[in-house]
Amino acid sequence: MSFVCRFAPSPTGPIHIGGVRTALFNWLLARKNKGKYFLRIEDTDKKRSKDEFKDQIISSLSWLGVEHDGEPYIQSKNIEKHIAVANELIEKGFAYPCYCTEIELEDQKALAKKNSLPFVYTRKCRDLKEKKDGPVVIRFKSKISGSTLIKDLVQGDRNISNATIEDFVILRKDKTPTYQLSATVDDNEMKITYIIRGDDHMINSFKQKQIYEAMGWEVPNFAHIPLIHSDKGKKLSKRDNASTLEDYKKIGIMPDALRNYLLRLGWSHKDKEIFTKQESIDLFDLSGVGKSPSKLDMSRILSMNETYIKTIDEKELFAHFKEYSAKYKKTFDVSKENALIKSMGFLKNKAKTLEDIFNNAQYLINDEMKIGDEDKKLLDDQAKLIVKDFITEYEKLTSLNKESLEPVIKSLIDKHKTNFKGVGQPVRIGLVGSRFGPGLYDVILSLDKAEVIRRLKKI
Ligand code: GLU
Ligand code: ZN
Repeated sequence: MSFVCRFAPSPTGPIHIGGVRTALFNWLLARKNKGKYFLRIEDTDKKRSKDEFKDQIISSLSWLGVEHDGEPYIQSKNIEKHIAVANELIEKGFAYPCYCTEIELEDQKALAKKNSLPFVYTRKCRDLKEKKDGPVVIRFKSKISGSTLIKDLVQGDRNISNATIEDFVILRKDKTPTYQLSATVDDNEMKITYIIRGDDHMINSFKQKQIYEAMGWEVPNFAHIPLIHSDKGKKLSKRDNASTLEDYKKIGIMPDALRNYLLRLGWSHKDKEIFTKQESIDLFDLSGVGKSPSKLDMSRILSMNETYIKTIDEKELFAHFKEYSAKYKKTFDVSKENALIKSMGFLKNKAKTLEDIFNNAQYLINDEMKIGDEDKKLLDDQAKLIVKDFITEYEKLTSLNKESLEPVIKSLIDKHKTNFKGVGQPVRIGLVGSRFGPGLYDVILSLDKAEVIRRLKKI
């Protein structure tokens, strides 16, 4: 069987981190098996679907390097086909009109509650002989006896009693198809052979399998992957600040680091932590996916990001940094680019995120440094004298490097009977605006000579 899979997000909100991982797993398997990975935008809920989210889903996945084959498949374009299948199911005796009013359904719900049973539609209209007037929904005639087995590629054999599956709605009153119907028809049309999605869809797979069988279509393979939970072990919610892909992008997590982290979230291969894209394609398999939910761990994401920041080529790091700044912070002047590229080598050492680099690079991006109140207090008379002496010595230097600067600092330490910090701190505050930040020599050497003097003369 050829390998054809899909990721089918609804464009009703920003893309969720769990969805991103589902997309990644689908994509990896398609690439590994030399198959196809399609993107299907499930936009049949017109009220909640927004183009803005559709665009964001597409661009976010491509940012991560999860590229779909062909054009995105827009589900709403196929609605006529979904409706035609609903009619075919009615003709074949696998679906029927239900005339129950909202009030009746409420009563049925209340009764179920009274008897402490989960609400399942009572199948009241299932065997009605005569047709009635008025608004109706179309329900699927689920099996009422026996059981259904799904040989899940992650969960193993899952068997449920058919009686527990209600006669679910496939066409609403306004004749629009529901998710159960549209997804199944499209999965069949797109010749999907592997449906890989979150395990919250397990029950849907039992429903959808019945539609396949009723239509005489070939049933695909299923794999349900466990959900991602917050670090507190609960289902992720918007309030966690780590639930959408955007939450990670805006703090400056890099695509390869996030891809690597998500790969390892719920899947493992021996003790290996770092995977190149090609390694993850070669090694990923569903049998390595665990059955229990995975917990997000922000400190691991940050350390993975730190590893990538430290190891990728500095020019590439700069390109990520430039894109990040323009999108989430502010675009810097082209005249700053050279100094920034040159400084990536040390800026990256104290950074876990691109945001850290951005903060530590402020003194290179802005000409005018604002010195904080706490730092100002450190610039007492002796500190100012040291800065003055530093300027005098520094101006005399003909070559600028660590070797030429060291004796200057040393002589000032001796002259002012202080230590490295006594000299380094006021000079750093003068150049960076803060006692924190990159190492002293890195800072001095990253600025033009004239600029160093200009800044220090203001002290
Ligand atoms: N649109 C559904 C969702 O986002 C798709 C589920 C599926 O993969 O069938 O949950
Ligand atoms: Zn009914």
